[in-house]
Amino acid sequence: MEVVLDEDKQKKIFRLIHKNVSMREVEINYKCLTRWHITPSIEHKMSGENSKMCWRGCGEMGTVFHIWWECPKIQAFWKTIVKLIKIITGNDIGLDPTICLLHNVETSVNKYKESGVWYYLNAAKGLIPKFWQKTEVPKEEDWVNRVNQIGRMEKLYHMQEDRMRVYYMKWEKWEKSGLKEKYRKL
Ligand SMILES: [Zn+2]
Repeated sequence: MEVVLDEDKQKKIFRLIHKNVSMREVEINYKCLTRWHITPSIEHKMSGENSKMCWRGCGEMGTVFHIWWECPKIQAFWKTIVKLIKIITGNDIGLDPTICLLHNVETSVNKYKESGVWYYLNAAKGLIPKFWQKTEVPKEEDWVNRVNQIGRMEKLYHMQEDRMRVYYMKWEKWEKSGLKEKYRKL
């Protein structure tokens, strides 16, 4: 990504990844950080076979950064996510890969999680490997469903811990956004 993160920033990103109830989200973030998912350019380097081009048919090389961020198709998806986050939270995080992919934010860990953005970005990031080696990329509907899934788990967790106040602090904006019900199947 050609971005240099100083030690404090790195520590903060790791703290963000760890301080979380859902192991799946921890996993998503680790896999993204450690380049666990094999892209065409890596595969090509390893085996000498298969095309190193992006499988989405954009005609570019399928590097890690391209697949997760630069590919025009995935850019359109990220634009939608950033736009929706702004609608939900009033917060414009900008189309910044270090924020969207690495949670490199200026606010404190607690404030960031309270804003809900942490969950919204994890939902987006977690969807990309679901569309691995497909020409299609995730849609708004996929993302809304995934955020709802995360929200349900969060609610369950906070209910058990008798911490519903904390749940509402983080999820109130989502609950009120209207998006929650938008794709609900009848
Ligand atoms: Zn591409």
